[in-house]
Amino acid sequence: MGKRLCAGLLGAVLLALAPWGSAESGPGPRMSIIIDDLGNNRRLGEAAINLPGNLTFSVLPGLAYSTQLAEMAHAQGREVMLHMPMDNHSRLPLGPMGMTVDMNEAEWRAVLREALDDVPHASGLNNHTGSLLTEQEKPMAVVMQELHARGLYFIDSLTSPRSIAYDQARVAGVPALRRHIFLDHEQTDVFITEQFERALAIMERQGWVIMIGHPYPETIDFLSWVLPLLEEAGVELVTPSELIDTQQRLTRRAP
Ligand SMILES: [Zn+2]
Repeated sequence: MGKRLCAGLLGAVLLALAPWGSAESGPGPRMSIIIDDLGNNRRLGEAAINLPGNLTFSVLPGLAYSTQLAEMAHAQGREVMLHMPMDNHSRLPLGPMGMTVDMNEAEWRAVLREALDDVPHASGLNNHTGSLLTEQEKPMAVVMQELHARGLYFIDSLTSPRSIAYDQARVAGVPALRRHIFLDHEQTDVFITEQFERALAIMERQGWVIMIGHPYPETIDFLSWVLPLLEEAGVELVTPSELIDTQQRLTRRAP
């Protein structure tokens, strides 16, 4: 299936959603898109930050352009997150400042603080890989204590179906949400379009959705034409902070 056919299908889906956000139906559906893994590649990082829409950028610590890209995103009014490298079952290398299972509590805390200092303006944190570490209580407790102390939120990237990170965050009083859809495991137009349509279906069901993508050329190209369509369809692009604010207001209002 070619790009034009993908675009046609997606356009049809968005058109079907168009009544949302009209004056009669009140506020429309909301979508949060986090772009992970910024820090290594300045050109692609900047291209992602320059996309036309209220995207959120999660920056890996300790890389050549980590601080610079976080500053740039912030300067353009975009929400910044720390993309914290955490140990995974495949034992893939984590890059600088990763949290591994063989560290002790003091080491987890030290590396986390170092990473938070390296990514200025972070409003929250999500895990980079982490299928192993997010299943473990002790390191997750350290993460949540640190986030709570700094008033930051947590987004579980959900790299393991057995992740306890979201529950640990809630127990620790850290505002938290979970990722619904990974946009671009495969960097093809067909795959990215299908994932996006899955996200739209979730949004239609529950009113909001959180997606994670990466600064791949294919993803940047896809978002460059889909973001204006979203706006036309009345879909509001929001930051995780905005989703969390709404969630907290609803919780307070509940009896
Ligand atoms: Zn990542």
